[in-house]
Amino acid sequence: MWIGIDDTDSSTGMCTTYLAMVIAGTMDLDLIKFPRLVRLNPNIPWKTRGNAAISLNVGIGKGKKIKIGEFNSNEIYSYEYGDDSSLDERDILEKLKKIVEKYAVMDEEKTSPGIVVTRKKISEKLYWKAVRSVIDLNEIFSYLENASYFGYKYKRGLIGASSAISWKPKRKTYELLTYLPEDKWNGERFIDKKSVILMDKKIKTTFENFDYNNDHIAIKPETKTPVLFGIRGTNVNDLEMARKIVKSDPYFSYLIFETNQGTDDHLVKKKISEIKPYDSVILDCEVLEKPKTIPGGHVIFKVKDRTGEIFAAAYEKTKEFREIIKNLDVGDEIKIFGSVKKYPKTLNIEKILIKNLAEIKIKVIPICPKCGKKMESAGKNKGYRCRNCGTFTNEIKYEKIERNINPGLYQVPVIARRHLSKPVEFFR
Ligand code: ATP
Repeated sequence: MWIGIDDTDSSTGMCTTYLAMVIAGTMDLDLIKFPRLVRLNPNIPWKTRGNAAISLNVGIGKGKKIKIGEFNSNEIYSYEYGDDSSLDERDILEKLKKIVEKYAVMDEEKTSPGIVVTRKKISEKLYWKAVRSVIDLNEIFSYLENASYFGYKYKRGLIGASSAISWKPKRKTYELLTYLPEDKWNGERFIDKKSVILMDKKIKTTFENFDYNNDHIAIKPETKTPVLFGIRGTNVNDLEMARKIVKSDPYFSYLIFETNQGTDDHLVKKKISEIKPYDSVILDCEVLEKPKTIPGGHVIFKVKDRTGEIFAAAYEKTKEFREIIKNLDVGDEIKIFGSVKKYPKTLNIEKILIKNLAEIKIKVIPICPKCGKKMESAGKNKGYRCRNCGTFTNEIKYEKIERNINPGLYQVPVIARRHLSKPVEFFR
């Protein structure tokens, strides 16, 4: 039986993934396969942080089992398959409501939790819509005809809850999340930097652990949530070893999720005229104006394709990535992987493929062919004259300038990386 939950947190507390932990640790249900942490459209304005929703397949576990977590020293297992014939959808929904009501940050105005319980999996069509576009709540109910569900307040959480169930993990990574005990959720937290670097270097299948250029521990959430740290990886069998290397404050539970993080599932190949607000796109284009740094340290430039023009930006938070962008010039052929918010309709760059660098030439003042002295301009478009021997020439000389960048695929640093963005290392 499938459970989906979303929209339980606020910017100052909670994390919907914690509810997967509570369900796995306290409800009398086995997890079939992995719990799922599903990131949806990253441009949705009403998201709290990373637009995450969760889903779990539950039942009476059968077949092979593997350990995927702990809750208060009790081991949590994932089963190969399961039997849900003895489970009652309505009964499970009532139990989930109690959990959501205990933990959701209801006093935050926009928090609108949604819970979905269904024996029948929801069409994958919904996932692709939810990760790539904006869904109207009214549209969701047609996907829930065979489900039991409950939506609080604006009921918006039903969108994420249903979409998380509808994800089919064809392209996927994993994340191991550790959780603090409730009395430590609002306090300072300690993670030993050296141990994170050691883990990053030792366990090669993990990614986005540490930003070396910006001295930033990326496994630690920016805000005070129940999560102490999260380790992302492509090989689930390495995550337990990675967890043991990291030294930190004590945590009372952890759980491994299957996720769509690092998959680029949000990106769609589009032309400029097709780009809509909240889209994430892959755009083949040409640099139309040289990049400029604007107040705030953002680097902005105009690009074109045969359907139109649009601004692209490397914002301040993308740090050293801006230096690559600043070196672009008019005529360079590029492919931008990025997304747009509603206003301003500017493409926020996540990755860039520099396909072909334009040949940039500058006018140079010629040397006199007779006496070898440097000539001087005889006026705008009037050629050059040698002050020494009076020689005149109409010939304009150009010099090719050395470009400071090379063609290739570049990405924003780990500190500015989006959850869904596929790291460049995965393309090799
Ligand atoms: P966190 O990452 O901390 O769990 P969050 O960033 O996931 O928080 P939520 O509080 O869950 O943010 O808010 C996101 C809201 O947007 C949810 O109600 C979810 O159902 C809704 N939502 C998600 N994707 C879409 C979409 N494509 N179209 C419309 N609404 C969406």
